[in-house]
Amino acid sequence: MKILVINSGSSSIKYQLLDMEDESVLVSGLVERIGEEKGDLTNKAFPGTDREVVTEIVHPIPDHSTGMRLAIELIVDPDKGVIKDKGEIGAVGHRVVHGGEDFHEPIAITDEVIAAIKANVPLAPLHNPANLDGIRVAMELFPGVPQVAVFDTAFHQTIPPHAYMYALPYELYEKDRVRRYGFHGTSHKFVAGECARLLEKPFGQCNLITVHLGNGCSMTAIKNGRSVDTSLGMTPLEGLVMGTRSGDVDPAIHAFLARNKGMDIDAIDAMLNKDSGLKGLCGMNDMRDIHAAIEQGDEKASLAFNVQTYRNRKYIGAYMAVLGRVDAIVFTAGIGENDTVGRLESTRGLESFGVKIDEVANARRAAGPLKISTDDSTVVVWVIPTNEELAIGRETEHILTRK
Ligand code: AMP
Repeated sequence: MKILVINSGSSSIKYQLLDMEDESVLVSGLVERIGEEKGDLTNKAFPGTDREVVTEIVHPIPDHSTGMRLAIELIVDPDKGVIKDKGEIGAVGHRVVHGGEDFHEPIAITDEVIAAIKANVPLAPLHNPANLDGIRVAMELFPGVPQVAVFDTAFHQTIPPHAYMYALPYELYEKDRVRRYGFHGTSHKFVAGECARLLEKPFGQCNLITVHLGNGCSMTAIKNGRSVDTSLGMTPLEGLVMGTRSGDVDPAIHAFLARNKGMDIDAIDAMLNKDSGLKGLCGMNDMRDIHAAIEQGDEKASLAFNVQTYRNRKYIGAYMAVLGRVDAIVFTAGIGENDTVGRLESTRGLESFGVKIDEVANARRAAGPLKISTDDSTVVVWVIPTNEELAIGRETEHILTRK
């Protein structure tokens, strides 16, 4: 089956066309700057030869519908397209950020599912409406083709109440569903599944700590194949130090800022989401720039790196206590997959907890999974590239073909 995977953001659409037969990528593309004066579409087609065909279009793209239509014109073409006919697309898989408490797993999209995604908009006011745009456009473009929603939050719905409740007045949970939901679930589940395969152990018996370090960062404690705690909370702001997001701060800082700096709630929210994290500490949010600056003796860059890796270490320790027995720690996403020093610092001093890094293995580069712990490390440490599009493709196929 060929599956189109769509990740629709507020001003962008990422898409991939996958051939699930061999899980190959046929097309991968990005529509950006939707709604701005000039939109941008980059389409990379992999037509089975060793050369990819890259097409870039700069054109006004007023809305998601126009963006997706332009992309489909490039993908489907009787002469030049990777596929000759729209009918070859057997299903569309959508990334949906927030499923609230309604969705524990991916689901085939119906009117009721759309209504439930809408009902969860207050929990993800920027993301869910954009995801719904993508669903609406795909339903228009591919009438009758099954559409599946894959939620960022679904994998974490197994977290028990003592880990998802905040110690706030209970009515806030009862009336407004204020609780931890967690995000990046598709990525955590994907790398955890790959890790179980590498450990040659049934997923349902694996205790893992998955560490997703990209521009957004999160860590998940997985017990017997189920998420039992995760660092992102009701929104994707809690927990680890991220590119521009603060992660954990004293909640009283909000009141301090309001009272002493005259900041209103929107300004505080924007600061915590867009101007904090690594960027807040040193002015840079790309780890490659931070390492280059550290080389030049930039002390704030060193501080930002240290604050992030210390927080990672602290959470790994906490999740070891949550799990008791840990089979493996998995690093993934942009920083997790590439930053050798970051991985080393995030696990430094954990030898007495059974975590021993093999520095030579850790310094290796690999396109696929890489084991970076020593042979006598009780906890195996892996670097496993995440692939959210493939994960969504697999989940979509699974939902549509299971009996
Ligand atoms: P992601 O959100 O998973 O795409 O990750 C993006 C982040 O990965 C970037 O902001 C960089 O900080 C980081 N990154 C990418 N490549 C490298 C690298 N070679 N070394 C260190 N960090 C990297």
